[in-house]
Amino acid sequence: MKQFIYMDNAATTRVHPEVLQAMLPYFGEEYGNPSSLYSFANGAKNAIEEARAKIANAIGAQANEIYFTACGTESDNWAVKGCAYANAARGKHIITTAIEHHAILHTMKTLEKEGFEVTYLPVDEYGRIRVEDFQQAIRPDTILVSIMYANNEIGVIEPIAEIGKICREKKIYFHTDAVQAVGHLRIDVKELNVDMLSASAHKFYGPKGVGFLYIRRGVRIQNFMDGGAQERGRRAGTENVAEIVGMGKAIELAYTDFEEKISYISRLRDRLIDGILNTIPFTRLNGPRENRLCNNVNVSFQFIEGESILLMLDLRGIAASSGSACATGSLDPSHVLLGIGLPHEIAHGSIRLSLGEFSTQEEVDAVIAALQEIVPKLRDMSPLYEGVERR
Ligand code: PLP
Repeated sequence: MKQFIYMDNAATTRVHPEVLQAMLPYFGEEYGNPSSLYSFANGAKNAIEEARAKIANAIGAQANEIYFTACGTESDNWAVKGCAYANAARGKHIITTAIEHHAILHTMKTLEKEGFEVTYLPVDEYGRIRVEDFQQAIRPDTILVSIMYANNEIGVIEPIAEIGKICREKKIYFHTDAVQAVGHLRIDVKELNVDMLSASAHKFYGPKGVGFLYIRRGVRIQNFMDGGAQERGRRAGTENVAEIVGMGKAIELAYTDFEEKISYISRLRDRLIDGILNTIPFTRLNGPRENRLCNNVNVSFQFIEGESILLMLDLRGIAASSGSACATGSLDPSHVLLGIGLPHEIAHGSIRLSLGEFSTQEEVDAVIAALQEIVPKLRDMSPLYEGVERR
């Protein structure tokens, strides 16, 4: 049988078998509507409240501060638009970064069309924002700051607690897109000083199509959906019971034996990085060595196209990505790689390999071996490589 090696866990993860088991009854016998009053519906109602409690417990929040959504994108849209609209009378200035996911960047563009002003903080060569730049960007009319906890393309972790402290002092609302962070970093919303935090279950071995938004009690925010009384009237619509249950189970599992899992994945990550950089010339790691998500490897291969590498990896049964899955299909180089100062041609030669708890050392070694074959082959065909001194 042809090998299959999944190296795209930042795009999505496989549903954990225990998560699937936890969900199954809610596609079957437990089909009651959680809003119904009769006792048959109590199973569904209790199950979603149990999931809410598990999520709150995992991030140091109160259960009534957790709101279920359909995905990370919805959580981001709700946090940013909901907070901007509800606080527009106080000011119309928002601060974010140049390397956010499009769920944030495109939301900001919409707000700009509606008269909000947005400052996009630049990042350093590793993708970190500078706290001084942030402090300088704050204005009397700044109402909201949205900065991602960890970047989906290059894995850099941003100084969220530090930014949060400043926001708290200045009484500015602070949202973090933690879609890549939940399940990979320990999270305590109080220590981080965040008012809102977005997450998505399919990034931590839960199902696709369900996420949550943490909204600290007291934050002024508009409702996301008007309708029934679900989610305390703020996000109406009959709950996606099975998936919410799956997300609760997934977050519980993610933080069980957490340190062991993270150190296992980090070791694989370092082996993959070293294996590539030490044996294939004209390569560079994008993002920092330290302060990096345990599962992220992003490498540029000079003189060739990332897409060609991906196709050749695919022929060998290896699934990887050229950056954010949402940007696949676009010919523009990644805004994140340009944001860290890479020239276009280097940005175009980049791929992202993202590991997970089901990854193995054998798979890592097979990927290194595949790249050792693919990269020289592609370079031999590349006019850019002609005349380059071979090492
Ligand atoms: N934010 C970040 C940082 C992400 O990586 C993603 C997905 O890749 C999202 C938001 C969107 O999440 P979802 O796919 O659940 O809408």
